[in-house]
Amino acid sequence: MQGVALKIASSCKGLNKLFPEVREIVPGNEKIKWIMAEMRAAVLYGKQDLRLERIVIPTPEAGELLVRVKAALTCGTDLKVYRRGYHARMLKPPMRFGHEVAGVVEEVGEGVTAFRPGDRVVVLNSAPCDICFFCTHNQQNLCEDLLFNNGAYAEFLRVPARIVEKNTLIIPEGIPFEHAALTEPLACVVRGIEESGTKAGDTMIVIGAGSIGLMFMHVAELAGVNVIAVVKREDQAVTARLFGARSTVQVNETEDVVAAARALTPGGRGADIVIEAVAVPVTWEWAVDMVRKGGVVNFFGGPPSGTKVQFDTNRLHYGDITLKASFHHTPATCRTAFDLVTSGRFKCAEYITERVELDEVPAVFARMMDRKGGSGGIKTAVFPDGVPK
Ligand SMILES: [Zn+2]
Ligand SMILES: [Zn+2]
Repeated sequence: MQGVALKIASSCKGLNKLFPEVREIVPGNEKIKWIMAEMRAAVLYGKQDLRLERIVIPTPEAGELLVRVKAALTCGTDLKVYRRGYHARMLKPPMRFGHEVAGVVEEVGEGVTAFRPGDRVVVLNSAPCDICFFCTHNQQNLCEDLLFNNGAYAEFLRVPARIVEKNTLIIPEGIPFEHAALTEPLACVVRGIEESGTKAGDTMIVIGAGSIGLMFMHVAELAGVNVIAVVKREDQAVTARLFGARSTVQVNETEDVVAAARALTPGGRGADIVIEAVAVPVTWEWAVDMVRKGGVVNFFGGPPSGTKVQFDTNRLHYGDITLKASFHHTPATCRTAFDLVTSGRFKCAEYITERVELDEVPAVFARMMDRKGGSGGIKTAVFPDGVPK
């Protein structure tokens, strides 16, 4: 389809004012091109105000791509942004929404040689600058100029040049788009696993059975780690076992959660590594109480800013405990995650528990707000072309 590459002839200057992103129109058949120049996209206007709108299809500038979205996935971060109405590091409303995405290159901007129209791609949601202090100290996830891209819940997504260059990957034949789109969250998890010094034979406690907690369990299990899951409900315990947890502690049925989790570790010593993936103070505190002497706690879940927690300094000091946190991903962990997703070893399909069309996105988020701790869904896949049979 050539229509999205709208070219406004000099006689049509008025269009420029209405649609600043549309620059040129090829003479002839302009009515059709007017229609084709719009797409459906989910736009977040503020707290729990997500609307599906018709907006202008972006035109890729030099170095950029225009990607036709084939699958986008919902994510806990999106839900957080939806609930709060903004994200400290990713734009302010009104903003295009959604960041876990795969699709087909529709059009390439000037100078792009690595991709061609028709290529199936995963587009990551950010790319680092590679020149700042953090980038040059192997912490690209903390880049001072991390460039974010949102707008996955739409028919088309414009991809900035830096992401085209550093964080766009070609999907091998046979890998469904919705599986490839798992690369982004998994890249964050891979970084968390690596940064915690995880190795085969370790015992890891994962607190939380949201999509991130479940990915930690699965990646750890594939790496030969003994995983203990701390979850709320029975259905979550079942899911945790599906993703590799050897044993589970159900918070709702346990009086002393810390004691119950420690009892499952070798010698009752506590876990070598504890991953906190709930993002509330009590689970942060449990994490420190569940780790063994000399062990590592990774606070992966980020509570709202200003949240305070309390730890026993004695336990931290004499227990020689390492406290750390992991945020986001790097181009290297994106590639590791992508290899895992495409390896056939990772249970991609099991993470996708609902499949919807683009128009349903606002309703999906409204439902996710209601069911907080509810029905056990993991991720919803959004298909702008319609849900595949
Ligand atoms: Zn995400
Ligand atoms: Zn940087």
